[in-house]
Amino acid sequence: MTDKTYLENLRNPTQKDPLRVLMSACLAGVECGYDATANGTYPSALKLLTYDNVKITRFCPEEFSFGVPREMCDIHGGTGLDVLKGRAKVLSDSGEDWSKGMINASLKMLEIAKQEKIEIAVMMDVSAACGSQVIYDGNRFSANKKYQIGMGVCAAQLHKNDFKIISQRDFASLELLYAKVDPQHKIDEEKLDHHEIEWYKTYFGKN
Ligand code: SF4
Repeated sequence: MTDKTYLENLRNPTQKDPLRVLMSACLAGVECGYDATANGTYPSALKLLTYDNVKITRFCPEEFSFGVPREMCDIHGGTGLDVLKGRAKVLSDSGEDWSKGMINASLKMLEIAKQEKIEIAVMMDVSAACGSQVIYDGNRFSANKKYQIGMGVCAAQLHKNDFKIISQRDFASLELLYAKVDPQHKIDEEKLDHHEIEWYKTYFGKN
């Protein structure tokens, strides 16, 4: 879940000392998705690339371990945190166990986050690697596809190591972030984070 107090207390970055952001590479337009696309276009995240007081470090953990194109993968038997603890598995569509590769990718992402002294990560929600609020519960292509609350493996690794994460669908948090990097930005109080929208509350019985 997004830590709004953390975002409110972020410093106001400058061109000389930019805000250090780690971004899922596909959110920055890199065609690193399983099908060699950028998984769609997300203006909410892309806008961050337009500021000269923001330093974006792009990384695609699945490309690092499995290349592009590749099979799709999902977490079976738990969340990303469970995969890190050896209690759940990442399986490719054809049933190959990708857990080890995904954990290696998460460690590489953590290494980069530490090296770059990342202040916030902006990551693609619902991915088995990068999801920060919601992920699939088992194979997303199965007839009875299900979602669960939880993080993907790489988001869980960053979270476990105290890095803060928001997703491209955490619009309220992004408002706070944009207010930090852009003095002209007026916060839209109507915007909601992913866990505050009606679909999330209804689907997970949080009403
Ligand atoms: S969501 Fe993460 S793992 Fe998937 S394509 Fe984007 S950067 Fe790569």
